Amino acid sequence: ARKFFVGGNWKCNGTTEEVKRIATTLNEAEVPSEDVVEVVVSPPFVFLTVVKSLLRSDFHVAAQNCWVRKGGAFTGEISAEMLVNLGIPWVIIGHSERRALLNESNEFVGDKVAYALSRGLKVIACIGETLEQRESGSTMAVVAAQTKAITEKVTNWENVVLAYEPVWAIGTGKVATPAQAQEVHCELRKWLHDNVGAEVAASTRIIYGGSVNGANCKELAAQPDVDGFLVGGASLKPEFIDIIEAAA
Ligand code: 13P
Repeated sequence: ARKFFVGGNWKCNGTTEEVKRIATTLNEAEVPSEDVVEVVVSPPFVFLTVVKSLLRSDFHVAAQNCWVRKGGAFTGEISAEMLVNLGIPWVIIGHSERRALLNESNEFVGDKVAYALSRGLKVIACIGETLEQRESGSTMAVVAAQTKAITEKVTNWENVVLAYEPVWAIGTGKVATPAQAQEVHCELRKWLHDNVGAEVAASTRIIYGGSVNGANCKELAAQPDVDGFLVGGASLKPEFIDIIEAAA
């Protein structure tokens, strides 16, 4: 069985005071045990260590990005080696905001995922179509191409969580319906089955992201191929705890 996974992507938000407050709120939450749900929050780089040091031991942290290769003369970048050195277990790679605003290509994202995994990081790899792509009927072709760029470079899928985040649902309040999410997750699992293997398809968590909140999470979580969430806006609020509880 695939363990439910709830990630909180804090994006480029927060002050020292705010992140401490969020960590305190999370620490006081009564949620299902680590055997039932894996909880990972992703503060901006500058707050990673403070949040990691404050958080209870059953909650983990993720960086929101890392450099594609070994560190060196890459001003402004943070290397996978540095994250490992700090004891950061997870990294989000290929978020649609980086694909769209920083021109990260499928190939670049695939390289990053492979390098981060090779350093021992666990990866939340993000994929998803735009509204235009959905309306033109190319959703599956787009997410398959994004996934293929990763599968080409990754052999061991044990430490990968695939996050399906339709761009039109991110930050818009326009959540995918449970049926829409299930359809793509099921197709993705089939794609993994046919292109990677039955075991990887059966064991890889495919999580949904895009306007998930305390009110819509239960119905989404009930879908057979929805193995958790990557939450943006609502992960900064106490309602994130309700979303973690959707695992039970
Ligand atoms: P929202 O939950 O704010 O729509 O953001 C989703 C997201 O991009 C998580 O990575």
